[in-house]
This record gives sequence, C-alpha cells and structure tokens, in this order.
Amino acid sequence: MTSVTGGRLPDHIHPANTMKTLLTVLSAAALMSTLSFGADSKYKEGSCCDKAAKKGEKCAHPCCVDAEKAGKVCEKCNKK
Ligand SMILES: [Zn+2]
Ligand SMILES: [Zn+2]
Repeated sequence: MTSVTGGRLPDHIHPANTMKTLLTVLSAAALMSTLSFGADSKYKEGSCCDKAAKKGEKCAHPCCVDAEKAGKVCEKCNKK
C-alpha cells in the first residue's frame, strides 16, 4: 500500500501559515476601509456643505459646486 497523503508541504506554504497571512491581509484591508469610512466627513461640522451632505445632497453654493468639480472641498465655507 502506498500512502496518497505522503506529500509534505514545505514550511513556508504550510496551511496554517497561509491562513495567518490571509488573516493579516484581511484585517489590514478591514482596517483600511474603516479608516477611509472614518475620514468620510471632509466638511466642517455645521457648514453649508456638511448640512447638505447629511441630507444626502450636495451643497448648491456656486463656490462649493466649483470646489466639488475640482475634487476639493470649498475652503471658504469649510474653514478649519
Ligand atoms: Zn457649501
Ligand atoms: Zn462654498
């Protein structure tokens, strides 16, 4: 009789190590998405843009629309 389970895996591709690597990658990815969610409120609290965003809308101020188009946040209305 010959065993079919004879093939031993080298340590670096041992299933347990692969799992550990996978978990590390997954938790890093989870952390990343949590961080990007946390950075979601880019507007100043209480600003016109913040209020609009909370209503699920975009601020209609021309200055804010322009900033939005440029991929930015209106600095006039969202001063730090
Ligand atoms: Zn605004
Ligand atoms: Zn503005």
